[in-house]
This record gives sequence, structure tokens and C-alpha cells, in this order.
Amino acid sequence: MDSKKAQVRDTKKYGAGVFAGMPIKKGEVIAEIDGRIYTLEEDFDDYAYNHAIQFAPEKWRASDGIADQLNHSCEPNCGIKARFKIVAMRDVAVGEELTWDYGMTEDFQWRMRCRCGTPSCRRIIGDFKTIPKDTRIRYKGYISAWLVNKYKLNRT
Ligand SMILES: [Zn+2]
Repeated sequence: MDSKKAQVRDTKKYGAGVFAGMPIKKGEVIAEIDGRIYTLEEDFDDYAYNHAIQFAPEKWRASDGIADQLNHSCEPNCGIKARFKIVAMRDVAVGEELTWDYGMTEDFQWRMRCRCGTPSCRRIIGDFKTIPKDTRIRYKGYISAWLVNKYKLNRT
């Protein structure tokens, strides 16, 4: 279920985005990725490459809801819980754009130019391993469960 507090609007910078229409508390679920599943072997295409999120070694899932409109930021205010929930990493004020770090779910050869414009922007974003180590540590608790299992992130 997508949060009623989240609203899709024009970012006036890079197309549509999702904004807080009401104050959002840390930990609140913003959106769920609950659409079509793609597998590398059968139907992984351009759409899946650009829009679906990875949740297993060769599986991705798209969203029919607002998750598809949530932009990446290199200084995000949201992260991933379990495999399919996008949740607030901190309290978010009305009017702030809701963003997450696309590297929180991916672990394959994927790259995208970033235009988030934050001071720590990585310019070219990619999978989990391309996130700087100190940033990965800061994201603890907000990395997709499949990557937590794969890289034993619970132990550190
Ligand atoms: Zn960026």
C-alpha cells in the first residue's frame, strides 16, 4: 500500500517525483513494490532495467504504484525494508521530495547518470558495491534484505 501522505508532482528539475504532502515519521512505509516480476533468463528488458528493483540474484520487480515515481538521491531520506518496502529513514517535512538510493537493491552491471545535485552526488550511480563504504554503513537497516543476506551485512 502506498502512503496517502505521498504525492506525485513535477520536480521542475528531472520529471516527476514523489513529495511529502503531510509530515512523515521515520520508519513509515511510503510505497511498496508490488508489480510484475522479471527474471534475467526470461523477460528482463529495457523497462525492467530502468524501472524494476532487484530482489534476488536474477529477479527484479516493478511497481504499479508510486514506487516507480520515487527518484534516486545520493543523500536520500528513504530506504528499503525487507525487499519491497520503501520507508522513511528520518522524519520528513511537508514539501520535501522523497528519495531513496537505487544502489540499496541492485547487484549487477547497472549504471545511471545522477542529477540529484546534492553535495555528495556520485554523478554515475550503480549497484550496491559502487556506494562508498561510509555511506553503506550509514544505510544500515535500509538495505534490501537480499543484499544483507548475500553480503552478511548483519554481522558488522
Ligand atoms: Zn546524486
